[in-house]
Amino acid sequence: MILLDSVTKKYPGDEEPALDDVSLHIEPNEFVFLVGKSGAGKSTLMKMITKEELPDSGKIVIGGIDLDYVKKRHIPGYRRRLGVVFQDFKLLPRRTVYENVAFALEIAGMSGKDIRKTVPKVLELVDLASQAKKFPHQLSGGQKQRVAIARSVARQPKILIADEPTANLDKLTTREIIDLLKKINDFGTTILVTTHNESIVNNLQRRVITLKDGKIINDQKNNGIYKLDDTPTPRQSVRVVQTPGHALKNRRRVVM
Ligand code: ADP
Repeated sequence: MILLDSVTKKYPGDEEPALDDVSLHIEPNEFVFLVGKSGAGKSTLMKMITKEELPDSGKIVIGGIDLDYVKKRHIPGYRRRLGVVFQDFKLLPRRTVYENVAFALEIAGMSGKDIRKTVPKVLELVDLASQAKKFPHQLSGGQKQRVAIARSVARQPKILIADEPTANLDKLTTREIIDLLKKINDFGTTILVTTHNESIVNNLQRRVITLKDGKIINDQKNNGIYKLDDTPTPRQSVRVVQTPGHALKNRRRVVM
């Protein structure tokens, strides 16, 4: 569960807040897109969740943890409970695919025996078992992102957040990465993704939250489409009212 209650954040020196009284509730196992023009506040919202930045006011509760009570020295441990994926992958260049995933588990305190059991399974999940011995520079962009995702889900986080995970990828690879995030969501992980990619948002038809000037101006809970403003969605404006006549006609069509 991700909960933000009246969160406001203004960076020092800025005239306007990056987040302005934002309240948001994401249930376990939801798949949510966060959209908005550049500067709308998407990254700042993600940084509120990872506690990279602190709010000026408001409350943030992530997976049952009230972030007010996560002390500075406990922030790395708190972050390890989240899966975090970045647009630039952030892999360790001198470590192999296998080692990148194993290292994340090692710093999380997993035993060598469990690491040796877990890494192959996770690489299988992201379809990279055959690339385990390669180094990041020997991989395509999509493969690098799959290693990054493997690393972030290896500890089986309840929540995965991804800031523009497909920004550096082509269309086909983008689709693969989104399919992988969907698969992870199907296993029960809550997913929050920021993106500028209109077609993936429209294809997936999940919840879509739009930020503008630091405010949530739109929250389409179901079948969301990519939109950057607060005009009604086409679906809302052309919604067909289901009259008994319609239902009859539809039924007849099915029978025939
Ligand atoms: P988005 O991710 O939607 O592009 P951001 O969260 O990066 O938006 O930015 C929201 C606003 O906060 C912008 O006006 C941006 O200039 C400002 N901002 C972001 N990071 C900083 C920072 N470190 N210092 C000052 N202002 C910042």
